[in-house]
Amino acid sequence: KGKRAFIAGVADDNGYGWAIAKSLAAAGAEILVGTWVPALNIFESSLRRGKFDESRILPDGSLMEITKVYPLDAVFDNPEDVPEDIKANKRYAGSSKWTVQEVAESVKEDFGSIDILLHSLANGPEVTKPLLETSRKGYLAAISASSYSYVSLLKHFLPILNPGGSSISLTYIASERIIPGYGGGMSSAKAALESDTKVLAFEAGRKRKIRVNTISAGPLRSRAAKAIGFIDMMIDYSLANAPLQKELSAEEVGNAAAFLASPLASAITGTVLYVDNGLNAMGVGV
Ligand code: NAD
Repeated sequence: KGKRAFIAGVADDNGYGWAIAKSLAAAGAEILVGTWVPALNIFESSLRRGKFDESRILPDGSLMEITKVYPLDAVFDNPEDVPEDIKANKRYAGSSKWTVQEVAESVKEDFGSIDILLHSLANGPEVTKPLLETSRKGYLAAISASSYSYVSLLKHFLPILNPGGSSISLTYIASERIIPGYGGGMSSAKAALESDTKVLAFEAGRKRKIRVNTISAGPLRSRAAKAIGFIDMMIDYSLANAPLQKELSAEEVGNAAAFLASPLASAITGTVLYVDNGLNAMGVGV
């Protein structure tokens, strides 16, 4: 029987989340996505109006179907966490049940269970500031949206993840090497995410036979990456210095995720898989 995937962090057709959805769909999975509440209307209307149809085309010529789009804000675990100003915000008031716990409950109600959980989201309000200029608030916001959001998603989806299932997040090498410009505590958030991948692999593996891995992806011109402001430079740097001198396509990351989610990866858990044309292996620029 086909597998079912929930992919958190899809709001357009430019990011890694979309590409992962396509690779999983091409491999026969049913696709559910979680879309950040403020981006929901434009994403759903673009989908409906056919704006993404070109990018929905799968290798066999058919169009990727997204069975359901759930509104999600992964910085809130349950309704009690939501502050008044957010509740009153009209972009949020227009949707309901978008906290992590409620989304997991809705997916359970709608479909019973899933096999694959994908976390493809990050946010750091002070990402353009060096760490030395980052406020406590900005740092904690980066950790909340980019690291704890994953702990929370896995925690709430674990009871409906079928044994043998797979959970995957996206990370960046700024966690372990100095990448000036990836600021605001985002490098710290990715370090936490990678360390948590190991601990969660143990806990989810023992508890429900779920594998937990993270993909350290090379640079992609996504909406989030453009907001950081140095993405073109990072793409040029990779082209000049990586062992494989080609632009990285989102599809290559999608395919790696499909591999990690498949039985071909049945003994792989707790790892950081680099999908970056090999750039991580270089010790010097050339
Ligand atoms: P993207 O903009 O396509 O994806 C980020 C998504 O996160 C967006 O859809 C955004 O709406 C969503 N989001 C932000 N805050 C949220 C919240 N509180 N709740 C729910 N959703 C929220 O950009 P992307 O670059 O494809 O990012 C996906 C993942 O890939 C991220 O973890 C990112 O750090 C990682 N990554 C990206 C690159 C790159 O160069 N683009 C490199 C390595 C890793």
